[in-house]
Amino acid sequence: MIIGFDLDDVLLNFQDTMRVYHNETYGTKDTLEDSRVWNLWERWNCTPEESVRRLKEFFEHPSHYNVVPLPGSVEAVQELKKNHTLVIVSAKPENLKQRTFEWLDKYFPNSFAKVIFTRPHYDPNKRKKSEVCKELGIEVFIEDAPHNAEDVASAGIPVLLFDWPWNQVPLPERVTRVFSWPEIIERLNQ
Ligand SMILES: [Mg+2]
Repeated sequence: MIIGFDLDDVLLNFQDTMRVYHNETYGTKDTLEDSRVWNLWERWNCTPEESVRRLKEFFEHPSHYNVVPLPGSVEAVQELKKNHTLVIVSAKPENLKQRTFEWLDKYFPNSFAKVIFTRPHYDPNKRKKSEVCKELGIEVFIEDAPHNAEDVASAGIPVLLFDWPWNQVPLPERVTRVFSWPEIIERLNQ
């Protein structure tokens, strides 16, 4: 099988690290449970432009590139790569390519056949994950963002949605909520 992975909050502990960074930098006291709205400007009570500025600031911060993988993800990728082709489709900006490859080499060496950057929401040249997944022949995709899950599923590709506070929405057809890496392995082996 060709299995597609989102990177942030599927393999890399992104939003919770950003939450801690934001609390320390902007004096907020957000808990993980406060991360229920997807849009950062609503979450942070600022303008969309300011949320992009803060996001880019976090991208460059050591706490972002020193982040550790999510529990169970390293073992799961080691297991899955034995029998499947693994591909990453991430909305991270392309200027983080080098650092992202370094991070992947550190925790997931020789694991992914391809890493595609679709670019973030603020980039006018961003691509849809559904398009990229179809092009690459991805048969199942693992994602945490509700809008990406819906987009990929609408192209006929089943999605496993990693459970987080920001994706507590009714799920469309072909999207299944999952709660841990061992559960994902179990479902993929079915
Ligand atoms: Mg993500």
